Amino acid sequence: MLLEHLTLAAAERDEQALTRRRRTAHSACAPHQDVSDACGGELHPLLMFCSNDYLGLANHPALIEAMGEGARKYGAGSGASHLVSGHSLAHHRLETELAEWFAPFIPHAQALYFCTGYMANMAVLTSLGGTDATLFCEELNHASLIDGARLARADVKRYAHRNVAELEGLLGTSSSPLKLIVTDSVFSMDGDLAPLTELLDLAERHDAWIIVDDAHGFGVLGEQGRGVLEHLALTSPRFIYIGTLGKAAGVAGAFVAAHETVIEHLVNTARQYIYTTAAPPAVAHALSASLALIAGEEGRQRRAQLGALIRTLRGGLASLTRAAGWRLGESATAIQPVIVGDNMAALALSAALEADGIRVGAIRPPTVPAGTARLRITLSASHTQADVERLLASLGSVIPRRDA
Ligand SMILES: *Cc1c(COP(=O)(O)O)cnc(C)c1O
Repeated sequence: MLLEHLTLAAAERDEQALTRRRRTAHSACAPHQDVSDACGGELHPLLMFCSNDYLGLANHPALIEAMGEGARKYGAGSGASHLVSGHSLAHHRLETELAEWFAPFIPHAQALYFCTGYMANMAVLTSLGGTDATLFCEELNHASLIDGARLARADVKRYAHRNVAELEGLLGTSSSPLKLIVTDSVFSMDGDLAPLTELLDLAERHDAWIIVDDAHGFGVLGEQGRGVLEHLALTSPRFIYIGTLGKAAGVAGAFVAAHETVIEHLVNTARQYIYTTAAPPAVAHALSASLALIAGEEGRQRRAQLGALIRTLRGGLASLTRAAGWRLGESATAIQPVIVGDNMAALALSAALEADGIRVGAIRPPTVPAGTARLRITLSASHTQADVERLLASLGSVIPRRDA
């Protein structure tokens, strides 16, 4: 019964071009990777435009060295959850460093390290979103925020993408004693920014708090890579900030930075923090090395390189997408969406690029709304201008021209 049911569901997915399949990397995360089919088979060298390793740190020698040093010092595993015996000096140092990073933006900031961003988001939403709260959620929020809102006991209201007026209406008519605005900072499938300055103004006028997920901004945005709050020069105790550490920071995990009272509440109540084994201390040790790179001269250079690549890519994509009748998203970040619309068309395009040795993900529903299937091109500071030009040339040779 179960197997028949699942086989039917798989056939339906196939029909709608929604079946997802994995590929297996045989080399480190980098623009040029050797990849095989998940089931094995031949190795293909591919030029990748789909990782979130925005600064190219995932394979950085200093981080590899720090990971080894951390393992020699603290072992391979943590052995227990943070509240039992798994909290190590490496975790503690990382949290102290992050708290210092966020002190200019969040008064009385403390930081709490989580195994993944998914868990951090679930933790914040369920722990703060009790029955007395209302969550005001942006419609394009990441799946982990959506799932957190589903699991929270709070009332949940949704507002349209970047629609500050709609949010204001919802806040104005709410009598909830605890109002929590929940938003991505950089939208993961679109690359555009939440209007955080306006959201903070609303939060102050309506006595609300802002839970902001900066998964794609931490490390990348801001002069020193401290993320969206540095980028927009915002300071407020109302921010509950989540940064992930497996993307630009190149390692794994996530953290929440917020007023010390909020952090203390999470330590004591967040089930996603309490009932899980602490990440290996070596990971935290490597992350401290990553923070030093991000904040230093090397980080600054990598952010400048990334900015130059984004300009080249957008310059080329503007005319290509016009010729094909597609839409290039309004994005100034490393995430550049080419919105094709149809699932089959997006998949065919991704397959054509792959046949040409280039991997760009085709993102389909339910990750994005129906009818907005897209190529999601992501750039990394470790790409070269020649890599980007190769992508543009390849795209130019595979897109269907409307006038053809
Ligand atoms: C990737 C991502 C997460 C999840 O972070 P992980 O550390 O990968 O679990 C959360 N929010 C957004 C917006 C993301 O893009």
